This record gives sequence, structure tokens and C-alpha cells, in this order.
Amino acid sequence: MQIKNATFIMSNTDFNKCPSPVKPEFAFIGRSNVGKSSLINMLCRRKNLAKTSVKPGKTQLINHFLIDEDWYLVDLPGYGFAKVPLKNRTEWQFMINGYLLNRINLMCTFILIDLRLPPQKIDEEMIESFGENELPFALVFTKADKLKPAEVEINLSSYKNYLSESWEELPPHFVTSSALELGREDLLSFISKSKSVFDAEAIKRKLP
Ligand code: GDP
Repeated sequence: MQIKNATFIMSNTDFNKCPSPVKPEFAFIGRSNVGKSSLINMLCRRKNLAKTSVKPGKTQLINHFLIDEDWYLVDLPGYGFAKVPLKNRTEWQFMINGYLLNRINLMCTFILIDLRLPPQKIDEEMIESFGENELPFALVFTKADKLKPAEVEINLSSYKNYLSESWEELPPHFVTSSALELGREDLLSFISKSKSVFDAEAIKRKLP
């Protein structure tokens, strides 16, 4: 699958105000600085589609982009800013839970993980909450270019070992580098396949 057009549609804090859920949707979430904006820009081959680096404390929003008039890419606000006051963290939680638990056209959320770091508690909690709520997700390991190929293998397998402590079956996962466009084809092909499930369901729903 290729992306020809990516258009910013809207930002908001309330899932009820998101675009009508008639098209399949894929969301991206991750700790701040994990490389989310860079990944979205890399997937869409646009320089500044997702704003790089949102400042801590700034209003955080759910951002919808329409891709090729066909599906939505959703940039969810980052988590884990060290200095964010509790009030803002609670608001973030409320907004994200509302979105994740109620967005009926959400096919998959990509949870981004910095491949250079050992497993982080905050990512673990995020992954667990997807499991508990039976929400479909995939892991996207970022910044692979900052590691040597052997280190990529080592870090990936230790992350997999860590995941297998709580997961019988590992979730889909991708190794990426926005700098090198690594993982782009695989991610887009995964999106394309999941999208066709939504399309097939939509066709079925129209049948008598
Ligand atoms: P966000 O806060 O998750 O949106 O992260 P950004 O996309 O703003 O990236 C945070 C920092 O990591 C920036 O300095 C990026 O240039 C850098 N970065 C992001 N992805 C990559 C990558 O794949 N390779 C390298 N070398 N740097 C990256």
C-alpha cells in the first residue's frame, strides 16, 4: 500500500466529536520523545504532518488525519512527561480511555517503544491496559538506526522474553527507523490487511 494523500482533519479531546466512524482507523501512541511524530511523517512521507515534539503541559489532543480518503490515521498525545501535573495526567487518561474504549472503527493502536531502552514501566502499564480491555494493538519499536544490527537483535529478543512473561502469544511487532524508512512497507501492509477486514464488515452490514 502507498500513501498519496494525507490531510489533517481535526483535533479534539472528546471521542464523541471525532469524525464519523465510517472509515477504518489506526492510532499511534507512545511515551513522549519515542519518535511518534517522526514515524507518522515517515509513513506519510510528509515533513511536518505530525508536529515534531509537543511541549510538556501544552494542551494534548487527539489528531485525526484522513489518508487517501480511505482511512484515518490518529496521532494520540504522548505520555510520560516527567513534569506534567497530576491534573493533566488525569485529563489525559480520561481522554485516551474515552477514545480507546469507545471508538468503534479503531482497528489497531500502534504502541511505540524505544528499542534502545530496557522495558519501561509506563509502557508496560499501557500494554497491560490494552490486554485487560481486549483492545487490538501492535508494538512498533523505534529508532533502530541508533543501534548496531546485533544490538537490534539482542534488544528485540530481550523485549520478547519480557513480553512472554505475561503474554502467551506475542502481539504483532515491527522494528522501525524513521531516519531510514525501515519498517514502512511492513507497517503499511499490516494496515492494508486490517483495513480490508473493516471494509468486508462494512459490506456485510449493508446486506439485508
Ligand atoms: P515524539 O515526541 O514521540 O513525537 O518524538 P519525535 O518524533 O519528535 O522524535 C523525538 C526525537 O527523536 C527527535 O529528535 C527525532 O529527530 C528523533 N527520532 C525520532 N525517530 C528517529 C529515528 O528513527 N532515528 C533517529 N536517529 N532519530 C529519531
